[in-house]
Amino acid sequence: MKNKYKMIIVGLLAVLVLGIGIALTASKQTKSQQPKVSTTTITNNTAKGEASEAEKEALKSSEQALSEATKKVVDSANKKEEPQTNEPQQKQEAQKPQQAQQTQQTATPAPVKQAVPTNNKVVCIDAGHQRYGNSAKEPIGPGASQTKAKVTTGATGIRSHRTESQINLEIALKLQRILQSRGYTVVMCRTSQDVNISNKERADIANKAHAGAFIRLHCDSSNNQSVNGVTGLAPASGNPYLSPSIVSSSQSLTRAVVNGLCSATGAKNRGLSLVNNMSGINWTQVPVALVEMGFISNPNEDANLTNDAYQEKVANGIANGVASFLH
Ligand SMILES: [Zn+2]
Repeated sequence: MKNKYKMIIVGLLAVLVLGIGIALTASKQTKSQQPKVSTTTITNNTAKGEASEAEKEALKSSEQALSEATKKVVDSANKKEEPQTNEPQQKQEAQKPQQAQQTQQTATPAPVKQAVPTNNKVVCIDAGHQRYGNSAKEPIGPGASQTKAKVTTGATGIRSHRTESQINLEIALKLQRILQSRGYTVVMCRTSQDVNISNKERADIANKAHAGAFIRLHCDSSNNQSVNGVTGLAPASGNPYLSPSIVSSSQSLTRAVVNGLCSATGAKNRGLSLVNNMSGINWTQVPVALVEMGFISNPNEDANLTNDAYQEKVANGIANGVASFLH
């Protein structure tokens, strides 16, 4: 009889142990089947030290999602609130073309085609060239495989023997004074001959200033001494580096500046020349105009462009053009 009782007790214990085992397994399965519990629930469980691996994973990923979502909201808020601090965007843009070049060197690179917000009370002036050129190369536009010298010395006056960089700077300083007196904020790419600023870097200055107009001053040169007049250089439609809106606004600005200059001086209006291979234009993300103010290879225009009173007229005419574009 004793043995019989013992066997019954052992049997009951076995059933009990088996039952507990089944119950525990079932409970584990239930927990691991619930990874999609809300953050609040998980947090509570975590506090009690009861979170399963699946729950910990779910918590981790929901925290990541939350922090990413927060980051996105903050980023977009920053973009909306601070359109004038554009550096991260520019850095991004500077990196994009490099990546494109690395992955497909022979194919046409993906164009950036972006424009920065502009301020119609800000004008950026680039007195073309500088005392000494810099023959190191830079891409002619974002993502371009074609390169050009960073900056050249420019032409020399046939009669005055003065350098284009000096003439450009003299007129740039006059234009600066005139625009400032008309209430514009003027950002100068250079105010001295002894600088080392590439054409791309000059465009960067205009972009960073969010200039409503970027005016690049140059003098023309030809082997034919009789050639004279004023030409505006603007991007052509379909320019691979610029947005269609920048192309179109740059053409309008250039036309306005050339017309203003010719009205003020009586110089021959040679109209616009549309170009897509100028680094200083292609890197620009604001309306840009390059004006060839006359031929210093022409003795008469060389004399004019090195004359203080004529320079003043040129600067006034350009300012009129800028004002009519920015009105
Ligand atoms: Zn030039």
